[in-house]
Amino acid sequence: MLKKTGIPTQADLQEVYPRPERLAQGPVAVIECFQRIPCNPCATACQRGAIQPFEDINDRPQLDVDRCNGCALCVASCPGLAIFVVDETYSEDQALIKLPYEFLPLPQEGKIVAALNRAGEKVGEGIVVRVQNPPAFDRTAVIHLAVPRELASDVRNILVEGEPHAER
Ligand code: SF4
Ligand code: SF4
Repeated sequence: MLKKTGIPTQADLQEVYPRPERLAQGPVAVIECFQRIPCNPCATACQRGAIQPFEDINDRPQLDVDRCNGCALCVASCPGLAIFVVDETYSEDQALIKLPYEFLPLPQEGKIVAALNRAGEKVGEGIVVRVQNPPAFDRTAVIHLAVPRELASDVRNILVEGEPHAER
């Protein structure tokens, strides 16, 4: 399924998804990178050693969830837009998703946007609570999106309705 559609199956996701006990402790990266490709900026971006150094450039990233603090440096570094941070402790009924975003204009903080799943389908709405876009992120912004907690494992993109979109 993944090779045909680019959308991971539940089995693919189970392989990389942090366990509920870790999710209950605070923000953590979810690395949805399923194919062996010559790429490693995620590992070099992580300053906490949470993504283990690659022995082979084609290795898939291995995350040590206990070292990860959810800083999202790896989110901005990934050319495949395959890394997200999920914080299920954000509030009583909301989770925070930090997701990569490469369209313009960037959404304003406080804006309500459509929350999309991995297939690009709208599954709900989210609130943009922060937009990180420093020069070091090299035009991959990181959007902090508050979503209903039950959508935390589904929401992986946004659509800023009513605004034109262009690749950056
Ligand atoms: S979120 Fe931060 S600490 Fe966690 S793997 Fe990514 S860069 Fe490392
Ligand atoms: S940077 Fe992204 S695409 Fe490259 S290996 Fe890491 S997670 Fe996969």
